Amino acid sequence: MTGGRPRSARAFRRASRTLVGGVDSPVRAFGAVGGSPVFFARGRGSSLWDLDGHRYLDLVGSWGATILGHAPPPVVRAVAATARRGLSFGAPTELEHVLAERIRRAVPEVERLRFVSSGTEAVMSAIRVARGATGRSRILKFEGGYHGHSDGLLARAGSGVASASLPDSAGVPASFVGETRLAPYNDAEAVARLFEAEGDRIAAVVVEPVAGNMGVVAPRPGFLGAVSRLAHEHGALVVADEVITGFRLRRGTIHRRLGLTADLVTFGKVIGGGLPIGAYGGRREIMENVAPMGPVYQAGTLAGNPVVMAAGAATLDALTPAIYRRLERTSSAIAEGWRTAAAEAGVEDFPLARVGSMLGVTFAARAPRDLAEAMTVDRSRYARFFHAMLEAGVYLPPSPLETTFVSSAIGPRDVGRAVAAARTAFAALGRPR
Ligand SMILES: *Cc1c(COP(=O)(O)O)cnc(C)c1O
Repeated sequence: MTGGRPRSARAFRRASRTLVGGVDSPVRAFGAVGGSPVFFARGRGSSLWDLDGHRYLDLVGSWGATILGHAPPPVVRAVAATARRGLSFGAPTELEHVLAERIRRAVPEVERLRFVSSGTEAVMSAIRVARGATGRSRILKFEGGYHGHSDGLLARAGSGVASASLPDSAGVPASFVGETRLAPYNDAEAVARLFEAEGDRIAAVVVEPVAGNMGVVAPRPGFLGAVSRLAHEHGALVVADEVITGFRLRRGTIHRRLGLTADLVTFGKVIGGGLPIGAYGGRREIMENVAPMGPVYQAGTLAGNPVVMAAGAATLDALTPAIYRRLERTSSAIAEGWRTAAAEAGVEDFPLARVGSMLGVTFAARAPRDLAEAMTVDRSRYARFFHAMLEAGVYLPPSPLETTFVSSAIGPRDVGRAVAAARTAFAALGRPR
């Protein structure tokens, strides 16, 4: 990639004159890896092309949303056909219950659901429902868990926030996060202590069944089971935040298989096929607390947007068992290839974590198991690896604590490219000092 990316650099300078920091979401600004962000012109399948015409293998996948790769024909067709009939009505269309039925068929415990426009809104609203249903105010979240940027959840929120080394966020009154309690991920005893102390005031525990915003951290055996048992013993609800994992690790949700009994589930990313979406749902008697059925208010001008619904339904229709098998095969091949390449280059601090098509690429003695460990990863080695991969034509997340996502558009030849790029990158990186 000699010659650099002059058009991206120029676009970033221009964007910075109107957009805050030149971007609409902080991690995109490359603050955690240095350099100037790549501006993309188009994507197709597993590839992205930047403004200067360079091609990249995409391992970000719009942070997991584009599970089928870029511009998958059935999704693009559904979007185009729907758009021609009108972009938004602010009134019901059949497309909303069509997508809702797809989700419910795969996740039967979601008896009622509500679409919103982002994962942030989904979790924020699920928590409002939990508070409304229990009459309690406190919530328990895990350090390094990211559940969107709503005020009460911006406490030890992982990746974006942690990468910037901000403790939390300015502009969030202490009293707002005063209702939030924190426990280390994978620490059931800390959860037990919190419930012991104030269990009668906790409305809900919110948890990512596989943490994807502090690297990729799988739950330890027994952890999630203990979380839901403790919550339910104390009359609190459990919110499974499946904004990343929902329909990514399997058709439906993953929390039950990992031992978590949830009362409310949140979705986002994959279910919108690359368009803005969120959804929350649960048992009928809990969800019927939401307006117009109940006293918990939540609304959205563009919620259930027909174009988004059509994209979501077309995406879920394309997610066949064969696609999930392919995702597993591809992800495993990339992981194995990278591990071997690291070993061959004498790179000993590459403890790649993998849960299905979620890869945690970090440089550390071992893969992080909680936020404290995630904070000790070698950021400067990740930054060098990131840029070496970028030069070799592989686009990784521009932050050491974000998940690397595999799409079903990635084929065997792409795996070869990803592994060859890593060989070059590891050789340039050498041993840790
Ligand atoms: C991305 C994410 C969110 C927030 O979704 P947005 O659509 O970015 O608002 C919430 N929870 C988890 C687990 C996420 O990864």
